[in-house]
Amino acid sequence: MTEIGDEYGRTFRTLRVSLLSRCNLGCVYCVDGDGSAVPQVQSAAASQDHLDLPALLQIMQRLQGLLQLTTVRLTGGEPLIYPDLIGLIAGIRSMGIGEIKLTTNGVLLKRLAAPMQQAGMRSINVSLDAIDEELFFRMSRRRSVKRIVEGIDAALEAGLDVKINAVIMRGMNDSQIIPLMEFAASRGIAIRFLELMAMGHLHERYHEYLFPRDEILSVIADRYRFSPLGRKSGATAHYWKTDEGLTFGVIANETEPFCRDCDRLRLDSQGNIFGCLSSNHPIRLDPADSEEAWRKNLRQALLQKQALRFVGSDLSMLHIGG
Ligand code: SAM
Repeated sequence: MTEIGDEYGRTFRTLRVSLLSRCNLGCVYCVDGDGSAVPQVQSAAASQDHLDLPALLQIMQRLQGLLQLTTVRLTGGEPLIYPDLIGLIAGIRSMGIGEIKLTTNGVLLKRLAAPMQQAGMRSINVSLDAIDEELFFRMSRRRSVKRIVEGIDAALEAGLDVKINAVIMRGMNDSQIIPLMEFAASRGIAIRFLELMAMGHLHERYHEYLFPRDEILSVIADRYRFSPLGRKSGATAHYWKTDEGLTFGVIANETEPFCRDCDRLRLDSQGNIFGCLSSNHPIRLDPADSEEAWRKNLRQALLQKQALRFVGSDLSMLHIGG
């Protein structure tokens, strides 16, 4: 079987699945305006804005057959709202994919952490842009820090590997870098700081809020001494370790792009694939199509990958999945 690859030697090994494009937070980088457009969603069961479990597993099984994936990351929207999440994790487990991971805002984590672990989940990223409740509200239009911290504690209790992700925006939450590090240290978990990406309604003016890697490191250097740990091939973050033993990373999409060894394929909640966050041209995967047609679609998705750097997209991460 010929491998699906490009001129830079890239192929798809990691699949990011956006389970649904709704969320129970209204973060400023995903949702424009005052956040009033954010639906008060706690359950997606009643609506059909997502693929049901058999349809989703069927697509993933075919992708696994064609790509021999090493990792699946479930995201969204908010993946913990997906009605059949536990069945989905168990189904992916039975496909023999080595790593099943998830990115969540953590609001519903307290209840779901243990069942997820039992179904085969090992590692989760929790997005937490502030530990101060008022600054968290400024970033997400909800007051949920307490619930999220309880969720993180439940996840650790259940034996999940937990990392924190925080998008740092100038003038919004840049004062939270050290408080977030202190929180991560209090739980003995790694934290990654993300540069804002040129996505969605901030596509053309993200630079107003961009808080670049070097400034993040300079804020940390005022408080901690640290040394570099490097970056693994295909990974998004560079890591450092403080003298106290806390691991932190920076995902510098903008100032230090990592397109050259990107191995990620994205599947959205309607069954479309994207080879890159920079592309908002969905490629439809039709279960009725032949294997050759799927290969053609995957080669087309690979062509969407950028050679050098992320150029941004009008599509919000809410839809394409972060
Ligand atoms: N609801 C889940 C969550 O909050 O983690 C999963 C989806 S969310 C879109 C995934 C990640 O994308 C979050 O960590 C969020 O902070 C990040 N994100 C969304 N828009 C972004 C942007 N424009 N730049 C950088 N990160 C972004």
